[in-house]
Amino acid sequence: MELLYEGKAKKVYRSEVPGQLIMEFKDDATAFNGQKRGQIADKGSVNARMTARIFQWLMEKDIPTHLIRPLDDRHLLVRQLTMIGLEVVVRNEVAGSLSQRTGLPEGTAIAQPVLELYYKNDALGDPLINDDHVRLLHLASPQELEAIRRQAMHINEWLRPFFQERGILLVDFKLEFGWFEGQLMLGDEISPDTCRLWDIQTRERLDKDRFRRDLGGVEEAYQEILKRVMT
Ligand code: ADP
Ligand code: UDP
Repeated sequence: MELLYEGKAKKVYRSEVPGQLIMEFKDDATAFNGQKRGQIADKGSVNARMTARIFQWLMEKDIPTHLIRPLDDRHLLVRQLTMIGLEVVVRNEVAGSLSQRTGLPEGTAIAQPVLELYYKNDALGDPLINDDHVRLLHLASPQELEAIRRQAMHINEWLRPFFQERGILLVDFKLEFGWFEGQLMLGDEISPDTCRLWDIQTRERLDKDRFRRDLGGVEEAYQEILKRVMT
């Protein structure tokens, strides 16, 4: 297989079929824009299986995603999208950089979900940008951005109860979108790497913050999330 791209968490290969890619999920973990590096045992397998499960479930709700089918525990066959250079973050509770930016304590409830746009650019450290910057950088037209916002909020409305039924609070998460034959599609992954997931009862963190903040029990948290998501 021809390796097209190696990122921090995944390798992307060309498949035999034009317009289709194979995404391989790695155990490598990075945080703070690549400054902290490590490995999380079986993370690749957890993230690939969780992404497949959630994307299949979202497609049943008529949300278009890039997923064609999982190939094995670590590899997903996906449509090749023309990616939009944005990280779209949706937040239901204050955590992480929103707490730092606003001074609101982590765990503060948010009445109406907050949507943020980050410019996907490693050299710049993925800065927070606004709608005018999106237009300036030609990342999306105002109409396209409106469609992206609407779809991200819609996905949040589906995912919150999905996790709640499994005893998990969906604190925040990051989405990436792209275009396929004129259609907006959800790409990339949804996993404990890209979401903040807290146990509803104990508010224990079951996500990458355990790695970022050296809280221990990282592998166990990823396995616990996978177990609950697969039910
Ligand atoms: P990063 O690039 O941030 O280090 P990854 O290691 O997860 O991230 O690499 C995966 C790359 O593949 C990302 O750049 C992501 O935008 C891109 N990508 C995800 N899904 C698709 C897709 N369906 N088509 C094309 N590119 C994709
Ligand atoms: N996130 C992500 N990739 C990034 C940055 C953030 O998946 O490059 C996710 C992160 O896991 C969290 C949400 O987006 O679920 C919001 O992250 P935040 O802005 O608080 O960033 P951080 O705390 O990582 O600085």
